[in-house]
Amino acid sequence: MALVKSLTFQLPDWMFSKLDLTSARHSDDARMALAIEIAELNVGNGGGPFGAVVFDAESGLPVGLGCNLVVAQGCSLLHAEIVAVALAQAAVGSFTLGHGAYELVASSEPCVQCLGAVHWSGVRRLVCGAPVAAAQAAGFDEGPRAVDWTEQLELRGIQVELNVMAASAARVLQRYQSQGGLLYNARPSIASRSR
Ligand SMILES: [Zn+2]
Repeated sequence: MALVKSLTFQLPDWMFSKLDLTSARHSDDARMALAIEIAELNVGNGGGPFGAVVFDAESGLPVGLGCNLVVAQGCSLLHAEIVAVALAQAAVGSFTLGHGAYELVASSEPCVQCLGAVHWSGVRRLVCGAPVAAAQAAGFDEGPRAVDWTEQLELRGIQVELNVMAASAARVLQRYQSQGGLLYNARPSIASRSR
């Protein structure tokens, strides 16, 4: 097979037609509501049940949007958090979000990949919806995170807020599971039990 020279990905059009992206959101709940709405719409459009948004903490406006694009784009890296961080960095024109007061709001706690990405992203704050137990109950494998992962983020100046609108966020995962949604974990033995 031929080697590939470049890769692009793009958000689905509904992200820009169905969501309120212009209202300032000044609370964790208001910001999480957008991440959960993205997760719900992504499921409704054939994607995975995860949404994430990078917000400018001061203006309350979104800077980068993310939904899970793993299946749509055929790339295991494209979790919602990765997509949101990458597009936010593209929007600000830098490899880091450390020059402003940016925060990542995600509908679920980060998996081991996204946790690593948060460390290098430059965000000042991570806000999570559904607890990891909810993602695991739906069949998703979050990987071997350190037990003190929140402390490790805090040590590096990244505040962490867990369980924001957790019940609403978990409902999206439960609905996805009850629909027999595809699981795209690292290990085929887990993925194969998805149907
Ligand atoms: Zn992830």
